Amino acid sequence: MKTTFPLEQFQLLKTPFYYYDTHVLRATLQSICKEKEALGNCEVHYAIKANANPKLLPIISSYGLGADCVSGGEIEAALKAGFPAEKIVFAGVGKADWEICLGLDKGIFCFNVESVPELEVINELAGTMGKVANVAFRINPDVEAHTHAHITTGLAENKFGISMADMESVIARAAALQNVRFIGLHFHIGSQILDLEDDFLPLCDRINDLLEQLGKQGIVVENINVGGGLGIDYEQPESHLLPEFERYMSLIATHLKLSPAQTLHFEPGRSVVAQCGSLISRVLYVKQGTNKQFAILDAGMTELIRPALYQAHHAIENLTSKEEKEKYDVVGPICESSDVFGKDVCLPRVHRGDLMALRSAGAYGESMASGYNSRALPEGYILEELI
Ligand SMILES: *Cc1c(COP(=O)(O)O)cnc(C)c1O
Repeated sequence: MKTTFPLEQFQLLKTPFYYYDTHVLRATLQSICKEKEALGNCEVHYAIKANANPKLLPIISSYGLGADCVSGGEIEAALKAGFPAEKIVFAGVGKADWEICLGLDKGIFCFNVESVPELEVINELAGTMGKVANVAFRINPDVEAHTHAHITTGLAENKFGISMADMESVIARAAALQNVRFIGLHFHIGSQILDLEDDFLPLCDRINDLLEQLGKQGIVVENINVGGGLGIDYEQPESHLLPEFERYMSLIATHLKLSPAQTLHFEPGRSVVAQCGSLISRVLYVKQGTNKQFAILDAGMTELIRPALYQAHHAIENLTSKEEKEKYDVVGPICESSDVFGKDVCLPRVHRGDLMALRSAGAYGESMASGYNSRALPEGYILEELI
């Protein structure tokens, strides 16, 4: 599998823009479906926040995936893109009343609840609407993910989830309420996880312990949701276009002690869309500094904030030049010192007008774009509309 860059068509488009190779996306979705079939009682919900581009969502929903939403806007986008309501889960620490009502009105599968006050509000709103809401509790398993501190979510000090110590009392509270039905437990320890054994096995052990503890009291948990977090190769995207879904999903399915009556749920975001996307940008200037040279792009942190936000690395390719390689600091035009995509990057000699691809930008790229410096939001194009 190789990424296709339709360069002639790129020349006609206004830069910067996002480009998605839908062959890569489809191959990724096929590999997820294959593993899902192999595992049996399992559901995969795509985490929409990774990329909510309306051209991509219908492709993803067409493979039978559900959607993991973290806002009312995402629920609307998911429904519009063909994700069935009964395959939508709604997560987030701060769900507003209108968002809860939207979920109830549309009949989504489940609310992933993160606190007792939230549970009570859902119960009350469901009551006024004459509905019963399915709820799963997001438990904070106090398991460390060995990833960037800003994207680890499963430690006791993080704002997410309900502590293990409170789990039983919260389940008891739900049982006492009329308009909620407890259907599962939810976990999500962080993102861009590559040490699968180191990070996911402790999570599985923790889940097994919790299920055993509940089982002793006759509490059956129908749905176990292990969240997302599978990492991708940002260093060498082209040699690893497909993330390790088989190894990841089978590792978890094998280590969790679930009965045939229990459904296992996954919520991958990044791993579904990251490798199919690139941010395509044009070089505005090559500037000679005191000790280095800068390639100044027309894309910046407004289009792709990950390097500035999490010191993330994106491979950079010069799509135009095949000349001798030289070193450049590749930077954007935004008035912030953190608006840097890479330092001392080796690139075929760069000229004004060259097209550059910032690779592995399909996840948390376009969806995090901003209008800072009064810039327009970038367009996103898919391969099939360019050829
Ligand atoms: C962000 C998020 C995901 C997706 O995480 P990835 O690392 O992109 O796979 C899944 N579940 C929840 C609850 C999330 O917040």
